[in-house]
Amino acid sequence: MEETLDAIIIGGGMVGAAVAAALGQAGMAVTLVEGGKAPEAIADDAPFDLRVSSLNLASQRLLEQTGAWSFIPEARRCPFRHIEATDEAETYQVHFSASDLELPHLGHFVENRVIRHALWQRLAELPNVTRLCSVSPVALVRGRQHTLVELDDGRLLAARLVVGADGANSRLREMAGIATHDEDYGQRALIVNVRTRLPQQDVSWQRFMPHGPQAMLPLPGHHASLVWYDDDEATLSREALDDETLRLAIEAAFPARLGGIEAVRGRASFPIRRRHAERYVQPRLALVGDAAHVIHPLAGQGLNLGLQDAEVLSEQVVAAFQEGQDPGGQRALSRYARTRRPQALAMITAMETFHRVFTGPEPLRHVGAAGLAVAERLGGAKRQVMRHALGL
Ligand SMILES: Cc1cc2nc3c(=O)[nH]c(=O)nc-3n(C[C@H](O)[C@H](O)[C@H](O)COP(=O)(O)OP(=O)(O)OC[C@H]3O[C@@H](n4cnc5c(N)ncnc54)[C@H](O)[C@@H]3O)c2cc1C
Repeated sequence: MEETLDAIIIGGGMVGAAVAAALGQAGMAVTLVEGGKAPEAIADDAPFDLRVSSLNLASQRLLEQTGAWSFIPEARRCPFRHIEATDEAETYQVHFSASDLELPHLGHFVENRVIRHALWQRLAELPNVTRLCSVSPVALVRGRQHTLVELDDGRLLAARLVVGADGANSRLREMAGIATHDEDYGQRALIVNVRTRLPQQDVSWQRFMPHGPQAMLPLPGHHASLVWYDDDEATLSREALDDETLRLAIEAAFPARLGGIEAVRGRASFPIRRRHAERYVQPRLALVGDAAHVIHPLAGQGLNLGLQDAEVLSEQVVAAFQEGQDPGGQRALSRYARTRRPQALAMITAMETFHRVFTGPEPLRHVGAAGLAVAERLGGAKRQVMRHALGL
């Protein structure tokens, strides 16, 4: 065993890499343990990947502060200035515009692999951050001064803090014996990358349908990511269609005013589940990102929540480290959990409400649709909601 580290981070996805960058640039000795491979460089003209996230302004700020944002090439990020949500008949809608808040944009759509690669490039600049790939933890031994993590290649690491950023099926969470509250929505999201007839748009569009929302998220150039929620059976049969039949099905189901689809470039589907860890912290251990909470992706907030965890946890831990206190101590960790768990719970509840109202029986759906119209007329309160969604 080598010297005791300040932190071990299990999981080098977007959230884990963000924690590693924030702690690493504060001078802490960090080891990042990733079960898969290191992310690969993506050429500016490479086809777009299916996994795309909307980064709100708070997430952009964190990526800027950790020095990762400049590694996201302009060619791979698409700013959006409007968010539009409508009911099934498109009778009612709520529209948020960057200009209402005097902002240049509301966020960016970026492929997950591009965000992750940018963060790993930043980590490569930090000599006190070690990145280990294709290794996973097999055992956790708690001590008063540090926690030991045994890896499946036989290595033994010791640190004052262990962070679980290993996603929805977190092994670290399981090894720590932290239970979760789970729900399967019985829904799948079909993600389809398309070439659009119109050039790049700047609207994140969503329509609430009885079987789940439909969304069109802009990507650079003539590209977009469509998200089509439905029950498992309908989604899996659509996913199996050939490109041209799927293109026609999309054109029939999505409104013509979106501009039409020239070609289908790829598709995949994901089950929609909710999962919330009962606790975010234990002595010398903290959970962040999907390891702590998996929410319905209908408002594209899962990664944004995870990056806010990364921001709050690293603020607390770095403050303790800089004051010469224990970075894995109770004080820093309970402040993190007290801040973040209620915020994630509020987001889970909000997503749950949207889901239940818009997939509920007709009278309830009508109330939801009317709610969009009311939200549209809220004025100052609408701006407040928007500021909250942007993480401002
Ligand atoms: C259909 C869909 C659309 C979405 N759209 C959006 C969106 O628009 N905006 C948004 O904010 N969020 C969105 N989300 C949610 C978002 O993708 C997740 O919240 C985000 O990817 C979580 O990041 P993470 O780093 O916590 O976990 P992950 O991305 O799952 O990363 C976990 C990492 O840990 C590694 N790992 C796993 N197990 C181990 C192990 N045992 N040992 C070591 N390493 C391990 C993995 O290899 C991976 O690198 C969407 C989700 C879905 C399903």
